Amino acid sequence: MDSNLNFGVDPSKRILVTGGAGFLGSHLCEKLLGLGHEVLCVDNFFTGRKENIAHLLGHPRFELVRHDVCLPLYVEVDQIYNLACPASPAYYQRDPIQTTKVSVLGAMNMLGLAKRVGARVLQASTSEIYGDPRVHPQTEDYTGNVNPIGLRACYDEGKRCAESLMFDYHRQHGVEIRVIRIFNTYGPRMASGDGRVISNFIVQALAGVPLTIYGDGSQTRSFCYVDDLLDGMVRLMDASPGVTGPVNMGNPAEITVFELARRIIEMTGSRSRIDRHPLPADDPCRRKPDITVAGKLLGWQPHIPLDEGLQKTIAYFRSTLAQRSDAPAPVLETTA
Ligand code: NAD
Ligand code: UDP
Ligand code: UDP
Repeated sequence: MDSNLNFGVDPSKRILVTGGAGFLGSHLCEKLLGLGHEVLCVDNFFTGRKENIAHLLGHPRFELVRHDVCLPLYVEVDQIYNLACPASPAYYQRDPIQTTKVSVLGAMNMLGLAKRVGARVLQASTSEIYGDPRVHPQTEDYTGNVNPIGLRACYDEGKRCAESLMFDYHRQHGVEIRVIRIFNTYGPRMASGDGRVISNFIVQALAGVPLTIYGDGSQTRSFCYVDDLLDGMVRLMDASPGVTGPVNMGNPAEITVFELARRIIEMTGSRSRIDRHPLPADDPCRRKPDITVAGKLLGWQPHIPLDEGLQKTIAYFRSTLAQRSDAPAPVLETTA
């Protein structure tokens, strides 16, 4: 492992997590509390849920603030994890202007805050900045193939602009930045009505209704279990000064959407059939991270294979669906 690294725990750190009531954010808050930090969770509950953090509310080092990151925020912290932004195409396309605002204004406000208080800031970027990639697997030096006027542009270009802001604040003001490019990540606490493929397929399989495959199912994704991703995210934040990223993080095991559907049907013992729906516009054909940089810089690699992660996620949905009144899995109705 690189001797530059500093994974030591400083229990006195005050850490802001924006989007902390979401899927990744709630697991991150929990992890940071477990490491001994004080956590300030900021969320406007657009896609996040109070249930995700209800168990943390009584914790003496946890605080929750309802706030929209498009507005300025004045707090005193040592580190900022900027995760606030809807991540599912069904949600980020519902109010695309708001998606661009949260990506750009949210990043700018967090950078202004980081500049004022001297905090380190980590931006949750995404594999979507590569668009429909012409380079496979995707390396960090690939600049991407994004349609700037398409339906996914609000998210893709918003996240690209956030990355630009991170590097400009770093160059212009010396703000300490970290940029993580997250590839599809899944696990417990995804919302059942979130619309992403793994939650949709599991919810559909458990309900015995048809699994909705968009297109012919030959498109690929590479799915990372949440625990692996968060281990990498915290390593990146705590790496020595000078490590800015961008760093890809995801599980390079690539699978077609069709094979994913087949596996989820088998693992749930479901009798669901598969229904075809039109492929959404600009849906990337394939996606797989090259994680060499994360390995070299941080000694990081994912450890949880897809079947194990799916078992845990299926168990989560099995135990919670019965008690929940979440919306059913939405089907994206935007055609290419
Ligand atoms: P999520 O939708 O569960 O969480 C996003 C959170 O941000 C929610 O709690 C939501 O209420 C909050 N939020 C949205 N707009 C806000 C605003 N204006 N002010 C304050 N809070 C706001 O999604 P997630 O999967 O947990 O994703 C978290 C972050 O990671 C996002 O930035 C997303 O782009 C990024 N990411 C996730 C994945 C993935 O596969 N999960 C992949 C790439 C990038
Ligand atoms: N900002 C914030 N909290 C702070 C400091 C700044 O939310 O503690 C916001 C501020 O309102 C501004 C943005 O961050 O909109 C960028 O701040 P910066 O100082 O870079 O820009 P300026 O205020 O000079 O436009
Ligand atoms: N997808 C699908 N059925 C669904 C939801 C998604 O076939 O019910 C497909 C989608 O078209 C895409 C892949 O699964 O090709 C991953 O979709 P997701 O929304 O999870 O993430 P992203 O497209 O942002 O990677």
